[in-house]
Amino acid sequence: TEPTLGNPQNTIEILKKYNFTFQKKFGQNFLIDTHVLDKIIAAAEITKDDFVLEIGPGIGTMTQYLAQAAGKVAAVEIDKALIPILGDTLSAYDNVMIINEDVLKVDIQKLVEEENGGRPVKVVANLPYYITTPIIMGLFEKHVPIESITVMVQKEVADRMQVGPGTKDYGALSLAVQYYASPYIVANVPPNCFMPRPKVGSAVIRLTTYDKPPVEVDDEKLMFRIIRASFNQRRKTLANGLKNAADLDIPKELIAESIESLGHGPSVRGEALTLEEFAALSNYISRGLR
Ligand code: SAM
Repeated sequence: TEPTLGNPQNTIEILKKYNFTFQKKFGQNFLIDTHVLDKIIAAAEITKDDFVLEIGPGIGTMTQYLAQAAGKVAAVEIDKALIPILGDTLSAYDNVMIINEDVLKVDIQKLVEEENGGRPVKVVANLPYYITTPIIMGLFEKHVPIESITVMVQKEVADRMQVGPGTKDYGALSLAVQYYASPYIVANVPPNCFMPRPKVGSAVIRLTTYDKPPVEVDDEKLMFRIIRASFNQRRKTLANGLKNAADLDIPKELIAESIESLGHGPSVRGEALTLEEFAALSNYISRGLR
């Protein structure tokens, strides 16, 4: 069954038919460009063997493409006004399951266990931008079995996920994403590909999850606390960031020693450190705290 949505005419028609009003608070910007949809589906490399999790199907535009390409699709949508519309636009597909819930409250681990026997899934979505980070970090931190995440996000956020040290966009999100996955920006997408048009530029990014993290870390939680502490106060040195972190409580001498062990001077800033260096720093500190 060929998708029918993905263009302005049919989108407007279905919205009118159901008298739908956009909810700003849900970050609703529906795709109206078939080229962009084709690009997302191609980048996600979906086959009939795949179970796809879609977050925020909206009126089902991308869901139609996903249903056509995948074995099965589970789509989680918070807005109950969209549920009857999805029933309509997806009526030709028998491999789609719609879940009317807040994705941050869904037990994705359990869903994957029940619906895909715990085998890795592909996540594909045009994300609601106001919760991009909690969605992605939630999936990673809960260790949901995921092969890849191919998502539309705010352009600036895609950049932050992809960059390394020495750039202004580098931060805790870059390190967290790059610990779990290898990022690749697939395409930049301008506001006129959506209805209504977002105020910001967008980009499609694919995160291919690693089987094993690229660095060895004794205590993941400690490393991420160290990372957050060192980016909390961007203008401060790494040593001060770590000293001021209330939840860390690392002895001053250990902080100094650990930074020295990296071969950096005492005034180095967190934003200069690579993932490998944060891993080494965190391992040094965790051993020192024992
Ligand atoms: N996939 C559609 C498309 O590409 O046209 C819609 C994408 S729109 C950017 C984001 C969608 O996520 C909206 O349908 C919105 O209602 C939904 N959404 C927002 N917050 C959500 C949440 N917490 N849980 C599930 N869905 C949510």
